[in-house]
Amino acid sequence: MKIMLDELHLLARGIGRDLKLMEVCGTHTVEIFRHGIRDVIPKEITLLSGPGCPVCVTSVHDVDAAIAIARNPGVIVATFGDMMRVPGGTESMLEARSTGADIRVLYSPMDALQLAQLEKDREVVFFATGFETTSPLIAGTIAHAEQMGTRNFSVFVSHKLVPPALRALLDSPDVQVDGFILPGHVSTIIGRKPYDFVAREYRKPSVITGFEAREIIEGILMIVRQIAQKRASVEIQYRTAVRDEGNPRAVALLEKYFEPADAYWRGIGVLPKSGLKLRDEYASFDANRKFNPPASTATEPELCSCGDILRGVKIPTECPLFGTGCTPDAPVGPCMVSTEGSCAAYYKYGKY
Ligand code: SF4
Ligand code: SF4
Repeated sequence: MKIMLDELHLLARGIGRDLKLMEVCGTHTVEIFRHGIRDVIPKEITLLSGPGCPVCVTSVHDVDAAIAIARNPGVIVATFGDMMRVPGGTESMLEARSTGADIRVLYSPMDALQLAQLEKDREVVFFATGFETTSPLIAGTIAHAEQMGTRNFSVFVSHKLVPPALRALLDSPDVQVDGFILPGHVSTIIGRKPYDFVAREYRKPSVITGFEAREIIEGILMIVRQIAQKRASVEIQYRTAVRDEGNPRAVALLEKYFEPADAYWRGIGVLPKSGLKLRDEYASFDANRKFNPPASTATEPELCSCGDILRGVKIPTECPLFGTGCTPDAPVGPCMVSTEGSCAAYYKYGKY
């Protein structure tokens, strides 16, 4: 590790300007803090958190729609634990549960399918959030439901795709990033190729990186080497888990059930073809079509800077509510809720 850090310091000094690198994945943000990586890398390098926390980017409208679905008689909505405290327009799922909505925390979509098989006279809806890491699990669960002829199970899909979000960041003039630490887990599914445009069209060096301290530092070093050598490509540090072509079986499963759709990213807005929706053939598993929840008109909380933080334009401590009006016990925005959220990570580990 010392050899890598020495090279990193030498290269960073030689480049002669400050660098901003973005870690796209929320788990990287947390690991960078947990291992104290900011304290050992050169002062010329600033690490910014990106839009890679699945909870943080889920829109206020989707939270409201999931709650509206849960308010239908005979419906159980299940979701991952982190989603429960994310503020909706007027209430979170946790608050909705306390006033009678049947909302449950489950660890996997398969648990929700089993619940549907046990509760045959109820409708079970899984509120599916997350990136390409989790969407193949949802596709696999729908495949099972299909095989078993389960009719009382459906999915409210709020999945997001990482490459279109990167393109949106690169297209926005106020986002200044010199290179990307690309997500490890997402890339085990999609591989390297979907990111190639980042280097080819935008000339930004990027490295798919693992999650251990040594791997993260090596990922940063690989980016800085590219900058020093004035080249840009998408490289893989996380060779133990990621192949160029990803996991073709998982991708095929995804493509069988889902198609790309425009999606609203909390704090960022609608990004074209940056989400997923179920294909028409699987409409009977689509909770949106089954329950047709009313469109939410809620807006995001005033003064909350999550949108700017997710785009790397601000850091959490620049939000006027950080640590005073907004804390993990009383979160105003999603970035303070999720364990992978950057505000929560700054609050827990940051020196402010
Ligand atoms: S799902 Fe995986 S890749 Fe995405 S933010 Fe979480 S750890 Fe990172
Ligand atoms: S500190 Fe709270 S209000 Fe401010 S950006 Fe973070 S989550 Fe939003």
